[in-house]
Amino acid sequence: MVNLSKYSSIFIANWKLNGNISFLNKYCENLKINSNNCTIICPPSIYLKSLKINKEGLFCGAQDISRFNEGAFTGELSASMLKDNNIHFCIIGHSERRQYFNETNENIKIKGENLINQNIIPVICIGETLEQKKENQTENILSKQISECIPDLANNQNAIIAYEPVWAIGTGLTPTFNEINMVHGIIKNFDSKLSHFKVIYGGSVKSNNSKEINALNHVDGCLIGGASLKVEEFNTIIS
Ligand code: PEP
Repeated sequence: MVNLSKYSSIFIANWKLNGNISFLNKYCENLKINSNNCTIICPPSIYLKSLKINKEGLFCGAQDISRFNEGAFTGELSASMLKDNNIHFCIIGHSERRQYFNETNENIKIKGENLINQNIIPVICIGETLEQKKENQTENILSKQISECIPDLANNQNAIIAYEPVWAIGTGLTPTFNEINMVHGIIKNFDSKLSHFKVIYGGSVKSNNSKEINALNHVDGCLIGGASLKVEEFNTIIS
């Protein structure tokens, strides 16, 4: 398992359903890694083995995984298959999976357990919708997601939490820096076990706000979608 405590910040590029082999090759050629940070590139699964992971602090990650370990589940990939292919991280519970693919908290917990059992670090995404935020439900929603999604065997060494307000993903909107820091603080204070977890922020992180967000005292890094597709912009974010 990757030793997270070696790195000052964690940056995750979530390519979603984007990219092709020439995009990937150019991206790898131009990517400028800061070895003090843990940088994780998450391309579509079929490209995981094509990424050139040849620098200190650079890793690849999957965008999702099956809840099943083996069997008659056409189209699925298991945690042990990721392990066999040297994949060290896997995003689970992304809001797009929850919204478009009926992902549930129960599934997310099982996926997290399967990953940890294979020494793969799950990046467990949680976050409220705009409606929930407007109804002042953020804390309740996060508390429920945390208690239902985080496996009992998870700890600050083998799992990462990503706070991603659903309304901030891909919209150009973000909470204020104060709000981001406050919510990260709330997550870390839910119980004593969480206080040392790495909690990273995702939702419209760009080169013009990443520095301020990552400098917030409760923030341990960023999960980046759209802006991670432009390698120069991603280089600025992780520099
Ligand atoms: C994401 O995909 O998790 C994400 C945060 O996307 P974006 O940076 O585009 O908002």
